[in-house]
Amino acid sequence: MNNSRRFSRRRFLQSGGALLAGSLLAAANAADSPGTPPSIQKILRRAGAAATSGTRVIVVGGGWSGLTMAKHLKRFNPAFDITLIDRQQYFVSFPLSNPWLADQLSLDFLSHSFYDAANNHGYRFLQADVLGFDRESRRVYTGQGYLEYDYLVLAPGIEYDYTRIGIDDPEQQQRLFQHYPGGFVAGSELLSIKRKVESFNGGTFLLTVPNGDYRCSAAPYERACMIAAIFKRRRLRAKILLLDMNPGITIKADGFQRAFDDLYGDYIEYLPSSEISGVDIDGRRLETTFDEYPFDDAVVYPPVRASSLIEAAGIDNPKDPQKAPLTDPFRYHLIGDERVYVTGDSRSQPFSKGGHTANSEAQYVAEVIAAHALGREAVWRSPQTMCFSAVDINPLESMSIITYYRFDQHSGQFAFDRTHLVDRWDPQGGQASLAWAEGMFDDMFYG
Ligand SMILES: Cc1cc2nc3c(=O)[nH]c(=O)nc-3n(C[C@H](O)[C@H](O)[C@H](O)COP(=O)(O)OP(=O)(O)OC[C@H]3O[C@@H](n4cnc5c(N)ncnc54)[C@H](O)[C@@H]3O)c2cc1C
Repeated sequence: MNNSRRFSRRRFLQSGGALLAGSLLAAANAADSPGTPPSIQKILRRAGAAATSGTRVIVVGGGWSGLTMAKHLKRFNPAFDITLIDRQQYFVSFPLSNPWLADQLSLDFLSHSFYDAANNHGYRFLQADVLGFDRESRRVYTGQGYLEYDYLVLAPGIEYDYTRIGIDDPEQQQRLFQHYPGGFVAGSELLSIKRKVESFNGGTFLLTVPNGDYRCSAAPYERACMIAAIFKRRRLRAKILLLDMNPGITIKADGFQRAFDDLYGDYIEYLPSSEISGVDIDGRRLETTFDEYPFDDAVVYPPVRASSLIEAAGIDNPKDPQKAPLTDPFRYHLIGDERVYVTGDSRSQPFSKGGHTANSEAQYVAEVIAAHALGREAVWRSPQTMCFSAVDINPLESMSIITYYRFDQHSGQFAFDRTHLVDRWDPQGGQASLAWAEGMFDDMFYG
């Protein structure tokens, strides 16, 4: 551990809060000074949307985890005064976005309003960027001002970690993201990928699969199938080069391998154990430890990490390359702080990073928080993972997997439990995937 790291952790432990938030707290005294520009004063004052009554719960991140959390917290305790914060204007679903790339459903199906969710479920939605938080004063700082909390739930999802594919320079990381977005973090990336696919005129279209505990294990392989289906429909002279940093297909392996061979043999070239070591953005070449691959266009999905909000607050596990938080594996709160919880894809537990996992987990953690507020304890239950993978189109045909988790006392690790895999695709699977997504959207926004 280097000196600056040791210093920041000590400072964190002394103050019980984030360094960034600590600085903001100090600067807050300057909010009313005449020399402070109005835009900065706004950040340093209490947000207009600040809670006024009841136990104040702030949920950071309006994704699958945060939306479910806000709804079910209110369900468990109507007296909770809940504010959900997200930087986006509206919600776009990643699940089912691959079939959307292949024109199997509309963008309307995937897009939903945070305001509908908040109005239907009786909480407040604030569109703002969360800048940091201070655990001593229990404040969350946003671009719209600060809010105070009694409970804080962090559900900010993942970020890309380009350093793990040899791109250390922040400017190069930004350029790589802008030119060859991975399509796993922001809705804008999806629009860009769809335009790339539709305008591709032939040659090599490169896709990558990261290693580590990445978001939605099946989605990069599903995406390869959907893009191949489009190229096949357009009878394009094109090859999809699928470079996998893992030694083999990580999930539904037999099904995807059959799809690559039987449906898309002329389109998909799959190369496992491709340890990516760099990307020449202007020269359009990707380097691995042993080779170089020229491409005409690309979607580069690098390894991922937990939101940098967690690292900036000094609550990450320094031994974990994915910078996940130090939390209780059964109750989700920070070790030593039962006021702050981390859920969804930023969690420390190795559950599959999926929307369904985040939804079922958030229902349980909402119960944990509601029980804690009453001085009680909820009984642990496993999240459920359910994941559909589209393989063919017109009609949409999908495979699926459902699993739970159990804690193995011997190894001290979580393991899959009661897994049910359907690795043959059919139209019933395709219809089931649409019905599943409708049910999830209903739970998070309308029901
Ligand atoms: C292509 C694709 C296909 C997928 N398919 C499936 C599938 O079939 N089934 C399945 O179960 N899962 C699937 N997933 C995975 C699923 O999308 C994620 O696991 C899920 O979104 C995780 O939920 P989350 O709430 O943790 O994170 P997110 O949904 O990413 O939500 C995090 C939210 O936090 C907000 N945020 C982050 N930082 C800040 C900040 N500082 N201030 C304010 N707001 C902030 C973000 O804007 C975002 O809205 C797929 C993912 C992709 C990309």
